[in-house]
Amino acid sequence: TGKFFVGGNWKCNGMKDSISKLVADLNDAKMENDVDVAVAPPFIYIDQVNNSLTDRIDISAQNCWVGKGGAFTGEISAEQLIDMGCKWVILGHSERRHIIGEDDQFIGKKAAYALSQNLKVIACIGEKLEEREAGKTFEVCFQQMQAFADSITSWENVVIAYEPVWAIGTGKVATPEQAQEVHVAVRDWLKKNISAEVASSTRIIYGGSVNGSNCSELAKQEDIDGFLVGGASLKGPEFATIVNSVT
Ligand code: 13P
Repeated sequence: TGKFFVGGNWKCNGMKDSISKLVADLNDAKMENDVDVAVAPPFIYIDQVNNSLTDRIDISAQNCWVGKGGAFTGEISAEQLIDMGCKWVILGHSERRHIIGEDDQFIGKKAAYALSQNLKVIACIGEKLEEREAGKTFEVCFQQMQAFADSITSWENVVIAYEPVWAIGTGKVATPEQAQEVHVAVRDWLKKNISAEVASSTRIIYGGSVNGSNCSELAKQEDIDGFLVGGASLKGPEFATIVNSVT
């Protein structure tokens, strides 16, 4: 499945000073060579981070506009992200789906446009607690996958992030078995609906309360190809521990 991938999603956190300290800590941290690492600062700090962060770590955005730029007040286009040094964009994060109200189809279109501009995409999926309790975990994840698949034509620059909503920011991490079960199901879905090649080459990473203490058990699972980290990515040394959990 290619290299282990660890992304740090800073969400709507940080100010100039705290970000400068976080970047200094990341620059000092020792990270395994054979891991792809990216951090996603809020849009307005991307330039500051790009000017100070080691080239070892890629920069991601947390969202982008669905198409070419223009008269779209408050939005940022894929072209602008490339211009500012981003290599990646996170799309379909549960906070954008469930708090902001983005739907599956809109997110699929964003992915296709971002890829067309040579931005790599971290495509997020995941069920809510009530959906898991109703036995609908696979159904929800497959529906979100289908919406991506309806728009994406090449999967080469896509990483899939499985982030169960009940595990995000709650301290309630999925067990390694729970995560592995969904990762296998998603890989199987890719095999049936896209191709065996895409299924075996696409990285499926886990997100939701990953920290320096639980990462190594999760990383041992066969189908967990990395992590998308929220809270723990705001601490440089702990984020490096998660990067180094690669097995
Ligand atoms: P936490 O690691 O804070 O649970 O957030 C996970 C996440 O949403 C990463 O995108």
